[in-house]
Amino acid sequence: MAELFPSIQETIAAYRAKTLMPSQVAAELLSRLEKENPELNAYLRTYGTEMIEAAKRADSAYATGKARPLEGIFVGIKDNLLVSGTLTGSASKMLEGYVAPYTGTAVKKLFDDGAIMVGKTNMDEFAMGSSTENSAYGATKNPKDLTCVPGGSSGGSAAAVASGLCHIALGSDTGGSIRQPASLCGCVGFKPTYGSVSRYGLMSMASSLDVIGPLANSVGDARTVFNTIRGGDERDATSHDIKGAKKLAAPGSLKGVKVGVPREYFLPGLDADVEGCVQKGIAKLKELGAEIVEISLPNAEHGLAAYYVIMPAEVSTNLSRFDGVRYPASKMKSAASLIDGYVKSRAAFGPEPQRRIMVGTYVLSAGYYDAYYRQAEKVRGLIIKDFNDAWQQVDLIVSPTSPTVAWPIGEKVDDPLAMYLSDIFTINANLVGIPSISLPCGEADGMPVGIQLAAPRDEDMFLLDVAEAFEKAGIGSAD
Ligand code: GLN
Repeated sequence: MAELFPSIQETIAAYRAKTLMPSQVAAELLSRLEKENPELNAYLRTYGTEMIEAAKRADSAYATGKARPLEGIFVGIKDNLLVSGTLTGSASKMLEGYVAPYTGTAVKKLFDDGAIMVGKTNMDEFAMGSSTENSAYGATKNPKDLTCVPGGSSGGSAAAVASGLCHIALGSDTGGSIRQPASLCGCVGFKPTYGSVSRYGLMSMASSLDVIGPLANSVGDARTVFNTIRGGDERDATSHDIKGAKKLAAPGSLKGVKVGVPREYFLPGLDADVEGCVQKGIAKLKELGAEIVEISLPNAEHGLAAYYVIMPAEVSTNLSRFDGVRYPASKMKSAASLIDGYVKSRAAFGPEPQRRIMVGTYVLSAGYYDAYYRQAEKVRGLIIKDFNDAWQQVDLIVSPTSPTVAWPIGEKVDDPLAMYLSDIFTINANLVGIPSISLPCGEADGMPVGIQLAAPRDEDMFLLDVAEAFEKAGIGSAD
């Protein structure tokens, strides 16, 4: 609700003061959805009737003083997150008709606190992509310019937030899929520390990289969502409670905070106007009291290559479960043989998942494991070491989120390598497992630019504090 209700906190305050009712917001949302979603394609499915019913219950919760912390907050949920009893398909024909048998932990925590689902947001099929054009159900458009992509893979969530079709949305980030679309649509996208949010109920893409996190209109909203969904979960062995120690000297002041600018991130390939915005952002951090330090991440440039070996390897194993036997889109019944059935069933994957499954199977095969997968894991180790060395010098690392602003729909679809480059600045945070956030930082060519901040593992709260100080200093939209 960008223009009407700037934050969750203000919406809740208005509900409490009885100047606004959840059912009014639901009605407004419904009419906006009817008007805007057919063109925008931010949501694959919306749940108008259920939303109105839930809003009425929220009305009475406020009337009787029994409102939960997020009562009447409207959320968009990425289509790779399970919501019991509803169609959940990762925007893939492979899962057409699949009804989730349970609700995942992060979503359940939001619901338990009173949040109301607007619908399932569009995405690149199985979260593979940077533009949401890989959805089997058509591309999402960028609300700032309908001829441009919204970024991806959580493009539907970013577009829904940026166009006021929910208060906040959940996305998943394996190599940048929360931060990059947030950057291209002009909202906040937060990828928490790996494991700080349970992955139970998230359809796995690459299990050692996947994280669930919020897309929001403000850092405060992102923090509220993160505080709701985070925490160790017995259903996800990689989950844990974060134990950060860093603190700001005073709220809003970055005095004593050392911010590293990696030399390797400001090279040709980075759009000059984007760089200009990010440099202004860095100047703003300095004005707030931060010390800006040039640092080096010597192996950072190899992150993209390592990612495009490790990620498809994990994709090929995770997606092997979609074999036409246990999941829908089954062509098994009419198949001439088991192999014929597999071949027909797996043809339901679109071109990008097929490409990645083939690469992943190849790099894990006996003859090539050492040459590719093992090497990529070694590179990952070197990148982790680079970041650990950097944390000896600085508290945070700043960079652009994306090397360019949003591009015209169709421009990169036939060039997967060009598409992969759009994640050059986001991928390392996933390889290393650290928290990272994209914040609005001005505009170039009339389109939003994002600045990215990253902090050491588990320092999510510190990162959000710094992000909030930056946001309050007011560089956000066009400067
Ligand atoms: N764009 C990256 C990819 O295509 C990242 C995707 C993601 O984070 N889910 O793999």
